Amino acid sequence: MLLDLLLPRRCVACGGGGSLLCAACCTALPTLTPPLCALCGAPVSWPVERSPESVARRIAFASARAAVPYDDEVRRFVHRWKEGGLRGLAAVAAEVVADRLPRPDADVVTFVPPDVWRSRRRGHHPAEQLARALAERWRLPCAGLLHATADRRQRGLSRADRQSNPTFRAVATVPSAVLVDDVYTTGATADAAARALGGRVEVVTFARAVRRA
Ligand SMILES: [Zn+2]
Ligand SMILES: [Zn+2]
Repeated sequence: MLLDLLLPRRCVACGGGGSLLCAACCTALPTLTPPLCALCGAPVSWPVERSPESVARRIAFASARAAVPYDDEVRRFVHRWKEGGLRGLAAVAAEVVADRLPRPDADVVTFVPPDVWRSRRRGHHPAEQLARALAERWRLPCAGLLHATADRRQRGLSRADRQSNPTFRAVATVPSAVLVDDVYTTGATADAAARALGGRVEVVTFARAVRRA
C-alpha cells in the first residue's frame, strides 16, 4: 500500500519510531501461560481435556490456540489493525503468533471469512491477512475455503446476535486445516467454521478473550 510507505513507522503501543510494534512493546505483550485447556486453549488452574468453558458448548475443532490474551492493550492493537486499516499490523501479529505457537501440522491454512454484511464496508480482511502471513512463515498453502452465508433464521437479528450464530459454507473439503482468525471470543465462530470445513481443524488466533474466574 502506498499509504503504508508514506506514513512514518511508529509503534502503535508506545509511539516510538522505527516499526509498527517496537521490540520492547512486542516482548511486553502479555502471554497466555499454561496450563491451558487441551481443547479450547482457555487458561485453567490445572491441565484438563475440557475446561468448563468448552464443556458448556459444541466444539467441532480439534484445538484452539492463541498468541496473546485479549486484554486492554491487545484490544487497542487489534482495533488499530482492524478499524485503522494498518495492514502492516497483520505481519506484526503473524510474527507474534509464529514466535509463540508451534507450527501446526495440517494440509492447508484457511481463515474465517468476513460476514456477509461486513465484507463490502471494510475493503480488507484481517483474518485473511493474518492467515496469508502465517502460511508463508509455516510454508503451508493458504486458501479461502469458507463463505459466510446469510442464514434465513438470522434475518432480523442484531449484528451481535448474528455474530454469535454465524453460518458458513465450505467451497472445498480437506483432511486437515489450520483455521485462522484475529480474535477468539466465545468459540462460536470457530465451531461453526470447523463444522463447515469437516476434517481435522486446528484453530489459531492472534488473541483470545479470557474470562475472569
Ligand atoms: Zn513500542
Ligand atoms: Zn476448554
